[in-house]
Amino acid sequence: MENTSSTIPILQGDAGFAQEVAAGPGGDTLPLCYQCGTCTGCCPVGAVDEGFSPALIIQWIRLGLRERVLGSPKIWLCLQCHRCSFSCPQGVRFADINGTLRHMAVREGFVDAAKAQEFAALERDLSALRCAVLDRAMREAPNAALSTEELVREALRNLHG
Ligand code: SF4
Ligand code: SF4
Repeated sequence: MENTSSTIPILQGDAGFAQEVAAGPGGDTLPLCYQCGTCTGCCPVGAVDEGFSPALIIQWIRLGLRERVLGSPKIWLCLQCHRCSFSCPQGVRFADINGTLRHMAVREGFVDAAKAQEFAALERDLSALRCAVLDRAMREAPNAALSTEELVREALRNLHG
């Protein structure tokens, strides 16, 4: 049968891929996943992008879909917040596993190393922005003079001095 973008050629999977991922931090928990979907349900990225699912990425790893996983923008969308890891009934450490996927993606040329550093810098800036906005909003609550949008604008102006 002809393959389409929505079908997955599972019989062509890379048998060694899951083992390589399992050798990284938290990788020993990979076989424990029983696809309950709790991680996807509690993920803040999944809440704004319904196509993002840590459970699905785990399944792709186990099917040996190296190119699909390492070439996917999804592994860079994760906030590394560990909410999924804390919520998983099986103790699967997806955030750590995703860190391994990123290292493998750079090492195997799926993403440029300089681009990966740009992503890391962007994540730091976004975290700093979030902290600044929430800190200011909480200190001024409940009579905040500035709207959330104005708080974001102010924090952006202050981000790099
Ligand atoms: S919460 Fe844990 S067991 Fe459930 S799908 Fe996610 S990783 Fe798998
Ligand atoms: S670590 Fe990543 S996948 Fe897990 S809940 Fe946070 S954003 Fe979602």
